[in-house]
Amino acid sequence: MTILAQLVAIVGAGHVSSDPDVLAGRVVDHTGRYRGRAGALVRPGTDDEVAAVLRACRDAGAYVTVQGGRTSLVAGTVPEHDDILLSTERLSEVGAVDTVERRIRVGAGTTCAAVQHAAAAAGLVFGVDLASRDSATAGGMASTNAGGLRTVRYGNMREQILGLEIVLPDGSLVRRHSHLRSDNTGYDLTSLFVGAEGTLGVVTSLDLRLHPTPPHRVTAVAGFDDLDALISTGRLLRDADGIAALELIDSRASALTAEHLGVSAPVDGAWQLLIEMAGDTDQSDALAEMLTDAELAGEPAVGVDPSASHRLWQVREAIGDVLGWYGPPLKFDVWLPLSAISGFAERAVAIATEHVPGVIPVLFGHVGEGNLHLNLVRCNVSDEAERNLYAAMMTLIADCGGNVSSEHGVGTRKRDYLTMSRTDADITAMRTVKAAFDPTGYLNPAVLFR
Ligand SMILES: Cc1cc2nc3c(=O)[nH]c(=O)nc-3n(C[C@H](O)[C@H](O)[C@H](O)COP(=O)(O)OP(=O)(O)OC[C@H]3O[C@@H](n4cnc5c(N)ncnc54)[C@H](O)[C@@H]3O)c2cc1C
Repeated sequence: MTILAQLVAIVGAGHVSSDPDVLAGRVVDHTGRYRGRAGALVRPGTDDEVAAVLRACRDAGAYVTVQGGRTSLVAGTVPEHDDILLSTERLSEVGAVDTVERRIRVGAGTTCAAVQHAAAAAGLVFGVDLASRDSATAGGMASTNAGGLRTVRYGNMREQILGLEIVLPDGSLVRRHSHLRSDNTGYDLTSLFVGAEGTLGVVTSLDLRLHPTPPHRVTAVAGFDDLDALISTGRLLRDADGIAALELIDSRASALTAEHLGVSAPVDGAWQLLIEMAGDTDQSDALAEMLTDAELAGEPAVGVDPSASHRLWQVREAIGDVLGWYGPPLKFDVWLPLSAISGFAERAVAIATEHVPGVIPVLFGHVGEGNLHLNLVRCNVSDEAERNLYAAMMTLIADCGGNVSSEHGVGTRKRDYLTMSRTDADITAMRTVKAAFDPTGYLNPAVLFR
């Protein structure tokens, strides 16, 4: 039997496709910049089906690329070997919220927005939020250990995961759903699988931690002419009780959102800091106090009710929609020491414009953690020019004490730069883990390692 016939036998004909038009839409990354090739799409509906699909593919010598919401910004779902694409979209069951233990069990294909809605309906909050919330899935977010807009308060995805189920490359199912508050029995496998980018197995469901909803929330956008002044203020705020979000916005980004979407920055200044504080009491006075000595470009814009807060978030939320306005942007996500950010910003602009005249460099992100996104907009260059620019920027990031990936992962784009953040011994240990779980290397073969 062909592998296609086997897949049909496992999941049913309605959930397997080798239609070139269907596959064409699935082999391209979110930005549209990178394209791969695939032999078929399979959409299993249960963990037993995931297990059977993996076994069949392994035995047939077929490569498998796992796809969640396909919002990866490092082309983590772009296949390179005529792979079978394994989509988790049918693993989307949302369990009941346990309001006493503050947890929820969801299928790996459940979107972030669906988890947030389920939590909100039970009066609770899910701790991870990102602009890709309508498509990004719990399984994809676990596999990339996603960060996002609330990391400064709740931590990354890893901090939200109480347990998970994962099908290993040999088709066995590991259940690490634990109802115990404390469990020190052996290796912390859950932690190993989080951030593994699908190289060690397919996550099929997760137990997620939920948090109480703070009754009071205040949002502000403050403008700065000097990036160092913004960063000093951010450094103070990130350790403040009640901090809920701390986002850097480049006025070049707000100029784009104003021009193309009619969403203007609410304040002046070359740089803007979006601040949100939340707690059991009104945080407005505390926020005003912390901004007293800040070198602001003018009066901050402040909102305490949900609609005012929504308006202030608009510029930040709209950034994702304009980055692709002039063609696929070139993306870097980078952690930097706070003291290195403004030097990096200046030199990055110089490098980008030297390589691509007319490029629009845009820097934004989760500045509380030094976790930033540099996007080069209007950057339509040849493959070779892109490789040179990419290498120059990664060298700058390394010079500034930054890392390979702050939150998007390595995917297929950053495989060549592992040694920037990991020693040879570290990489050998990671390869040993990969080989132990997946000796033939058929699962997500293009991700993480070359
Ligand atoms: C507008 C926008 C904003 C974003 N903002 C942020 C942000 O603030 N913070 C952040 O961290 N990221 C952000 N991202 C990146 C992206 O949304 C995250 O990386 C997200 O976690 C990916 O989830 P996904 O379901 O789309 O995964 P995919 O893109 O489908 O997959 C990502 C990786 O995980 C693997 N994978 C997916 N599902 C599974 C599974 N069930 N089991 C095993 N492996 C799996 C894939 O093979 C791939 O290697 C953003 C993206 C966009 C487009």
